[in-house]
Amino acid sequence: MTAQIGPLLVGWRFGPLSNRPQLLEDETLERWRTIIEPFRIKSVEPVRMSTVEERSARLADAGYNLFNIHSDDVLIDLLTDSGTGAMSAEQWSGIQRGDESYAGSPSWFRFRDAVTELWPFRHVIPTHQGRAAEKILFSVVGGPGKVIPSNTHFDTTRANVEFTGAVAIDCVIAEGHEPAAIHPFKGNMDTEALDAVIREHGADNVPVVFVTITNNSGGGQPVSMANLRATRAVCDRYGLPLFLDACRFAENAWFIKQREEGYADASIPDIVREMASLADGMTMSGKKDALANIGGWLAMNDDAWAEQCRNLLILTEGFPTYGGLAGRDLEAMAAGLREVVTDDYLRYRIRSTAYLGEALLESGIPCVQPIGGHAVYIDAAALLPHIPALESPGQALAVALYREGGIRGCEIGSVMFGRHPDGTETPAAMELVRLAIPRRVYTQSHIDYVIEVIRWVAERASELRGMRIVQQPAALRHFTARFEPIAQ
Ligand SMILES: *Cc1c(COP(=O)(O)O)cnc(C)c1O
Repeated sequence: MTAQIGPLLVGWRFGPLSNRPQLLEDETLERWRTIIEPFRIKSVEPVRMSTVEERSARLADAGYNLFNIHSDDVLIDLLTDSGTGAMSAEQWSGIQRGDESYAGSPSWFRFRDAVTELWPFRHVIPTHQGRAAEKILFSVVGGPGKVIPSNTHFDTTRANVEFTGAVAIDCVIAEGHEPAAIHPFKGNMDTEALDAVIREHGADNVPVVFVTITNNSGGGQPVSMANLRATRAVCDRYGLPLFLDACRFAENAWFIKQREEGYADASIPDIVREMASLADGMTMSGKKDALANIGGWLAMNDDAWAEQCRNLLILTEGFPTYGGLAGRDLEAMAAGLREVVTDDYLRYRIRSTAYLGEALLESGIPCVQPIGGHAVYIDAAALLPHIPALESPGQALAVALYREGGIRGCEIGSVMFGRHPDGTETPAAMELVRLAIPRRVYTQSHIDYVIEVIRWVAERASELRGMRIVQQPAALRHFTARFEPIAQ
């Protein structure tokens, strides 16, 4: 029997499974046991309880913009998963060990070794966060006339490409545009579209091809190893370098292990190293899968590019062995990188995001599917069909979740994308509310509470009213605009 089950046998941990040889390890875990948080809580941060009346007053003061709410007045903060994670005891002890020497600090070497253990690129350049790595790289390789394709550029990536005068082009597969389309690797590059973009603009004008793992703007959807290999093949055909925007690389590796044939028995570090072997460099935000509150890096094999990037780094970030960070921040990322690639952490991380999404779907609340790695996206247009797009259904829902339950999510719809530089407005492609899950911060009962609040609001969806913008800046209005509810 054991031979038949082979490497999938996990009965030693969870009792005899000999009558269920067909179950994969993680199916077994999910079917027969609650996946508990793989940590104990050692230090707590109080959450101050508040009432609907208090929160209604805060909303009016804030012009119904959740970016204007003080985080002390939030019960469950799902605004972003960026830099909001809890650090481990190992990371906090690294903070104490941090050496603040200007040049050649032991903290730098520990950080560099932790990065290259997973990403063995020749040059590692620390930066204060991911966008600083993007700014430096695109300052060197971008510029007018250049074109930079990606599966989907993250917004800071696109902005940094465009700031140099270059053009950012998204080539995600067709399923990536459909909120309800089910695909195991919905973040994949459309390699034919990529090939066509390179031919249309000329390989000489394409300095680098990017792949974002997981695809954040596409809902935290993963990219398969086969797709990375196919993208590499297109790059090789034209002699182009391939870079990864690797912010959620560990989550992507877990999806590969779960969903892609041939990887069920591979270790996460080996999957990461295989992704690295297909690329020539990376940009990274340490605020995501380095489990830190600040930090990032740029890494690459090309010596000439690295030299130009280091020169810019010294201008804008700092000396190449600390790059805009304290030594203690480098230590926090080094320890975080070792923890983020463990099966216990990733199983919990991906499962706990899916837990929220599946509970909402079971209650008939429309969400982007499949549920991605770091966030659940509620389809506000489908939940609130009586509110037209230009009356901001996403904002109306986000405001209701805060008022009713103190939950802070983020509108991703016509408030964020509907206004054009000439002042005209058209509806965005989707009206979503993103609930991003900070890493290792909230317990299952917090998430059960979130589910209860969303169900309560969804049952009363027909009572929600749209929002009108009463004050807004010329650009990036979602951060500072003020709203008021539209009277019935
Ligand atoms: C967060 C993020 C960035 C930018 O990183 P920062 O540390 O916020 O500057 C770039 N790309 C993706 C996919 C991200 O999620």
